[in-house]
Amino acid sequence: MTTTLTKPSRKADELQYTREAYLSSEERVLQVVMNNTHECMAYLDNDFDIVTASKAYAKNYGYAVDELIGKNHFGLFPSTERRAVFKRVRDTGLPAVFQEESWDGHHQDDWRIVPLKCRGRAVSGLLLIKKEGANNAGDQWRDEFMGLISHELRSPLTVIRGVINTVLSESERLSSEDTRHLLRDAEVEAESLSQLLWNLLELSRYQTDRLSLSVGPFIISRVVKNAVEKIRRQAFDYSFEVDLPADAPEVRADELRVERVLFNLLENAVKYSPKGSRVKVFGRLQKHCLIIGISDQGMGISREDQAKIFRPFKRLEGVGLHGIGGSGLGLLVCQRLVEAHKGRIWVESQEGNGSTFYFTLPLG
Ligand code: ADP
Repeated sequence: MTTTLTKPSRKADELQYTREAYLSSEERVLQVVMNNTHECMAYLDNDFDIVTASKAYAKNYGYAVDELIGKNHFGLFPSTERRAVFKRVRDTGLPAVFQEESWDGHHQDDWRIVPLKCRGRAVSGLLLIKKEGANNAGDQWRDEFMGLISHELRSPLTVIRGVINTVLSESERLSSEDTRHLLRDAEVEAESLSQLLWNLLELSRYQTDRLSLSVGPFIISRVVKNAVEKIRRQAFDYSFEVDLPADAPEVRADELRVERVLFNLLENAVKYSPKGSRVKVFGRLQKHCLIIGISDQGMGISREDQAKIFRPFKRLEGVGLHGIGGSGLGLLVCQRLVEAHKGRIWVESQEGNGSTFYFTLPLG
């Protein structure tokens, strides 16, 4: 009698039942190591499917470990050059090292790739280990962060202090209309400061695994209305349109976080579009989720830049961008929050032709 052994499917929803059942003893040992290490490492089978990975490895790419397991490494992180290195190690049984741009695009990471020959002499899989370099992500973040503090936190504070000084020292000369204008400027700056601090706090919670969501069902139209009302107060030169499906069921998410994501995207839509233009929020129902889109009539983003704008501190340079303030953290925070809901965020845009940012929300 012949028995055909087929490789079990390793889809995420089957993991609970199948993962333990078919892992070999060597793979189980590796799994224990992965679960308990701070190193950035992953174990791939000979088809380059991810069998097990450490938390640091998943975090390196902005995923949770369970989202990676069973997926093909190159399906998630395509690269012809890296595939050639992996194949060589698998076919020759000799280890290799390679360098690759870090996920945030700020530096080169050194990777070691080691073939495992646990059972007999044949290569049974590949172990990927990231070497921690001197110029690691922590240093990079600190440098960028210091730069950010010195500029993005200081400039709104300067305006706020200037307004307070003027209103106090010139109170008799200023008309009530002038005073109102000045105070409104201060309010806008105070709001931008509080947005920046909120984004920094969310990122710090994410980095230290303290991001916990308060998930519940709610009506999306109410949250969209709140976010639009809020942005309208600081962007009265723009027009806003909301078009949500009338029959949209409740979504199941963290209401406050969703409002923040919407607000960040609306703020960008306004910041990177000319005055007088229109910003639209719309929704599309899918089987298991609601897709929210925020479109603007602004400067647009080239295909090449679209791949970069979700990286930390990444701000585009170019015509029309000079003098527009920002931290380069808003989209990263949106991405983290949407992914924490197991959703997806992406942009569709053409240079000079406006942009539409989309994100998905799970239905209740
Ligand atoms: P920032 O605080 O700089 O706006 P974000 O992370 O929100 O940071 O955005 C990163 C960069 O992406 C921005 O600096 C800008 O160059 C680009 N960007 C974001 N939204 C838009 C948009 N709607 N239109 C054009 N460019 C955008």
